[in-house]
Amino acid sequence: MIPVEEARRRICAAFHPLASEQVTLDQALGRVLATDVVARVTQPPVAVSAMDGYAVRAGDVASAPVRLSIVGYAPAGRPYRGTVGDGQAVRIFTGAAVPAGADSIVIQENTEAEGDRVLIKQSSATGRHIRPAGLDFAAGDIGLTTGRRLTARDIGFAAAMSHPRLEVRRRPRVAILATGDELILPGEIAGDDRIVSSNGFSLAAFVIACGGEPINLGIAPDDASALKAMAAGAAGADLLVTSGGASVGDHDLVKSALAETGLELDFWRIAMRPGKPLLFGRMGGVPLMGMPGNPVSTLVCATVFLKPAMEVMLGLAPTAGPTATALLGRDLAQNDERQDYLRATLTHDPSGQPVATPLSVQDSSMISRLALADCLLIRQPYAPAAKAGTRVAILPLSGGALSI
Ligand code: AMP
Ligand code: MG
Repeated sequence: MIPVEEARRRICAAFHPLASEQVTLDQALGRVLATDVVARVTQPPVAVSAMDGYAVRAGDVASAPVRLSIVGYAPAGRPYRGTVGDGQAVRIFTGAAVPAGADSIVIQENTEAEGDRVLIKQSSATGRHIRPAGLDFAAGDIGLTTGRRLTARDIGFAAAMSHPRLEVRRRPRVAILATGDELILPGEIAGDDRIVSSNGFSLAAFVIACGGEPINLGIAPDDASALKAMAAGAAGADLLVTSGGASVGDHDLVKSALAETGLELDFWRIAMRPGKPLLFGRMGGVPLMGMPGNPVSTLVCATVFLKPAMEVMLGLAPTAGPTATALLGRDLAQNDERQDYLRATLTHDPSGQPVATPLSVQDSSMISRLALADCLLIRQPYAPAAKAGTRVAILPLSGGALSI
């Protein structure tokens, strides 16, 4: 058995950032930038009014009340081309260019229109309610940098910088193959000897959540030649993930069957629970992650190993280990040699501190418990017995960028 961290390191080392492609802004959400995005325009391009009101010369309105004559009208997009002189004002609206000569905006609420004149009821200083050119950004500024996963805010910013398309990393193509003679699809007629396959669906959803493109290779029976034939469907993918058949039973064929088609095994078996029989290697140029079949093992392995592999392919820094801490909700016995990922609920104590309480049953077959858990509580190998209230490392399962 190798430690989790070593396995993760070796997995990450086997991947590289993928090539880039161009997408339109409406396709860019969640994609990862492959280049910096440099502003092509200045925003605002010229000084503009931040309010509805009157563009004036600050010297004319240093004290109020005062009356000015209205010489022009400037809505957004239709600037007043003349110059504002002494004693003059231009009716102006939010977003309109500030006309030459004016250097202050008096807001509408502080004025009273009197035909072709306006009564200014409050003084206004130089620059008041004017957004100078380039207040937001200037042409040539680096607005967004390579390796950023694009949010709705980023997409708005890229649009404002006048980019109709963005250069992003290609989505990793992840082929998914479930294995097991007992498996049927959801909705198929069940029998006592049948198990409904959930891993293919959870893995596909996980791949999408990470920014990848799943390729569903279906369910292979526990038969070496069928397994080999179906695994061949992964040719051209960036990664093949199998579930089931990775352990030591007579019907666990992934390792032996695929060895016949050139699987080069990097490692097998990790000091973790659940997920111990995970295997990793390369088959005809396609990396292979062979996950154990229990639904919780599959998803814990996806969180710990598949996610960082996909992050490397996307040009992101791979996330390592736990991302938060909480107080332990109940006593725990000493841990053995395997790193433990306990399914736990998350509540808050009266002072607002998060409290992680491991579920009383931790069977790796129980997808119902994983689905309703809030976090994985991580215990290092040989961690000593811990009392309720001890600070522990957790990996939140929901609420973050990735909800599995
Ligand atoms: P295995 O790793 O093949 O020994 O499978 C371990 C356990 O996980 C067995 O009880 C299988 O029935 C179950 N299992 C395997 N594949 C799946 C799957 N795709 N969906 C749900 N359970 C599975
Ligand atoms: Mg099996």
